[in-house]
Amino acid sequence: MEKDNILTIQHLKKSFGQHEVLKDIDLQVQRGEVMTIIGSSGSGKSTLLRCLNLLDDATAGEILYNGQNILDPNFNRIQYRAKVGMVFQQFNLFNNLNALENCVVAQTTVLKKSPAEAEKNALAQLEKVGMGPYVKAKPAQLSGGQKQRVAIARTLAMSPDMILFDEPTSALDPEMVDGILDIMKDLAHTGLTMILVTHEMGFARDISDHVVFMDQGVIAEQGSAEQIFSSPKNPRTQEFLQRYL
Ligand code: ADP
Ligand code: MG
Repeated sequence: MEKDNILTIQHLKKSFGQHEVLKDIDLQVQRGEVMTIIGSSGSGKSTLLRCLNLLDDATAGEILYNGQNILDPNFNRIQYRAKVGMVFQQFNLFNNLNALENCVVAQTTVLKKSPAEAEKNALAQLEKVGMGPYVKAKPAQLSGGQKQRVAIARTLAMSPDMILFDEPTSALDPEMVDGILDIMKDLAHTGLTMILVTHEMGFARDISDHVVFMDQGVIAEQGSAEQIFSSPKNPRTQEFLQRYL
């Protein structure tokens, strides 16, 4: 059967000065799959996500999104960014805006929705992530877990094709983690394409269709969750996973 790839990444490279952080990455992401990227700190996971979202410019290679090269100078980056959500470890909310306003702003400015329509959708998304009672709260009044819920609602309010999550629970107090993972699990079941960087190995094993192990800027191994977690072939993968036993 022909694979339906939302992303096809070919020979992707990214350097910061002399330091080559991504070295010839080839990767295919199927529409609707949950892909998890694991690997040690500094292996290039965040840089890869940032290149996929055009927050960083790749140095070489191609990223095809539905067959179109997003690195082409003529590619519509603004439209693409609206379709590809990103959830960060540090939430990246607008601290001067309340939860509702955080979820409205890109809908009106980028998607050109009317304020009333944007607000209605924002409220529905905030409700969905359990933030209905806090729509008027500013980020400073919210816990880390609540801020991350707002960040997820903000992303969902854009009706994304794909969401990239970069260690969404790493900055949270332990008691806040499961609530966020539950929300992500629900999203995974909606058929949304998700690319996730996490150190929550039990969770990754549970929800991932596809697991990628990165080591020093290369994909050292990839496969199904079952294959990577139960019978990793590469000694580097084995060594990395040992730390989580
Ligand atoms: P990970 O997310 O796997 O921990 P990163 O992608 O954040 O890894 O970083 C990979 C490497 O790239 C690290 O050595 C880091 O210091 C370097 N790096 C990341 N961002 C920058 C930057 N903006 N400028 C210079 N070096 C960077
Ligand atoms: Mg990182």
